[in-house]
Amino acid sequence: MSEAVLWTAEDAVSATGGIVAGDWQVTGISIDSRKTRPGDLFIALKGPNFDGHQFVAKAFEAGCAAALVSDGSVLPPNANALIVDDTLDAMVRLGLAGRARSKAKIIAITGSVGKTGTKEALKYVLGEQGKTHASPASFNNHWGVPLSLATLPVDAKYGVFEIGMNHPGEITPLVKMVKPAVALITNVVGAHTEYFKDEGEIAKAKAEIFEGLDKDGAAILNRDNLHYFALARRAKELGITTIKAFGTDATADYRLFEANIVTGGSAVRARVGGRDLEYFIGCPGEHWVINSLAVLACVDQSGADVVRAAQDLADVTPPDGRGARHALAITDKTGAQTGHYILIDDAYNANPTSMMAGLKLLANEKPEGTGRRIAVLGDMRELGDEAEQMHRDLVHPLEHLGIDGVFTVGPMMALLAQELPSDRHLGHFDAAEDAINPVRTAIRDGDVVLIKGSLGIYVSKIVSALKSGH
Ligand code: ATP
Repeated sequence: MSEAVLWTAEDAVSATGGIVAGDWQVTGISIDSRKTRPGDLFIALKGPNFDGHQFVAKAFEAGCAAALVSDGSVLPPNANALIVDDTLDAMVRLGLAGRARSKAKIIAITGSVGKTGTKEALKYVLGEQGKTHASPASFNNHWGVPLSLATLPVDAKYGVFEIGMNHPGEITPLVKMVKPAVALITNVVGAHTEYFKDEGEIAKAKAEIFEGLDKDGAAILNRDNLHYFALARRAKELGITTIKAFGTDATADYRLFEANIVTGGSAVRARVGGRDLEYFIGCPGEHWVINSLAVLACVDQSGADVVRAAQDLADVTPPDGRGARHALAITDKTGAQTGHYILIDDAYNANPTSMMAGLKLLANEKPEGTGRRIAVLGDMRELGDEAEQMHRDLVHPLEHLGIDGVFTVGPMMALLAQELPSDRHLGHFDAAEDAINPVRTAIRDGDVVLIKGSLGIYVSKIVSALKSGH
């Protein structure tokens, strides 16, 4: 089956202005020549380190059908192209045009933690009910959101967009592009506190999501979150009348009754939009129980079938880097298997809230035989003034959750290392690369190993090395 046309040269130029070369059509968009697929429009963006114009020839080698550039001199002879003054601005215009022509039910997601996981779960369950488009990966910023909108297929029934922020004022222009019918704030906690005075300021910035929400649409909020009332008030001020809550509180519209958390996920009993439902969510951890209620609230408020979606949650598994669980072999020098262990890959990012969620995930594991629960923890970044104390304080949950051994990675985690009793501290390393071999050597049959840290500390390298087995 040939892929559906996303943009014709005619539609693209009417969205962006500029000059068209050739009569072309594209089936996708890419901004990275290494990921360009045949039929794509390659958009040459200028970043802080690279200028996409350097990779236009590579993109054509990879089969792109046309390129969007501001400098025509980089184009191969006779190349299909759209030449504009500013490629980022043109991508925003394509995104706006993509949104304007779509009849999809659009859901926007923001929050301090859980955006990507919730988005992926929602994409899966809605995808079982109709064509669903979602932002790829964590494409949630000033280029990720327009790019995600520009790739919204014309015939999509549902669109799920993640909107992130590090500073006040960043969500407003993005949500005004997305124009959702449903807006979810997963939670507000002290993530990215470096750029905010306090959590209340973070809540205010998250509430910007209501500024682009359709007045007849629905705001979905976490009833258990400290900032619930402030967020609900802000939604009301902006004229939103449908405000729905999820959580454990008795007043929540999407209310958890009980959850039985087991290794591969959780069995949940909840009241969902007026119905009592029992379902299984295939992602382990108590944070996923709550995320699943947020997903079902979005499904319900989008007019999709919530009972079916609840059933389909059983097939949702955590994305890589966000709690994905892998059973891996331990081998000797000859390559013969001598045992096995479980790796929990939570390496995508970390802040104190998600760190707790990850540690609880580990605590909930039941290692086989003499297996231990081991945490490999990298720095949590962007925490501002309290960063040092927040790292030191991890000693308490590690103690009461019964984590048997801890590796620390990075200058901030060195502070936690000072607090840990020596029999439970397995080693400290300044860089993730240096931790790979010691971690590998320490792992024994039956162990469960959690790897978690902020993106910039690259504990994901330890995950990759362990998964590749060498
Ligand atoms: P980022 O802004 O860093 O991309 P995000 O908001 O997209 O993060 P996810 O990537 O979905 O969040 O999840 C990151 C981690 O946060 C997960 O691996 C998990 O440890 C934790 N987490 C997810 N949902 C919750 C939740 N509801 N409460 C607490 N922690 C959570």
